[in-house]
Amino acid sequence: MVGISEKEKKLLEAALKSMDNAYVLWGFKVGAAVLAEDGKIYGGCNVESWVSGLGTCAERCAIDHAVLHGNRKIRELALVMELKGNNNPVPCGACLQYIYGFAENSKIKILMAKEKDGKILFETVKVKTLEELLPYPFRK
Ligand SMILES: [Zn+2]
Repeated sequence: MVGISEKEKKLLEAALKSMDNAYVLWGFKVGAAVLAEDGKIYGGCNVESWVSGLGTCAERCAIDHAVLHGNRKIRELALVMELKGNNNPVPCGACLQYIYGFAENSKIKILMAKEKDGKILFETVKVKTLEELLPYPFRK
């Protein structure tokens, strides 16, 4: 496990809690949490749809949640994914681009972990910067 602070552990725990509300029809549960510019944590979960392409990822749900409360920037994001097969907890390309649009800067940390039996598997925690995951973002 990589070294994470108590604050980051709290962010991961918030993502885990948000995962409980995931609306899953065919995939797997994902929870996310962002530390927003107001210093508060906002959670989000994936919401699937039977119509392909209409569902929402947990990361975008968490960002939208922060925006709903007046935030325009996020400082950090945590993602927890239900352990299922070989799935790998990492934001999808669309989410990375979305995160980029709200990130305080390209160095914000993205914490990623797997979950099993309601607990975060801390040995699976990975920490990357947004820039590492999305070195060439689309910008206008
Ligand atoms: Zn996504």
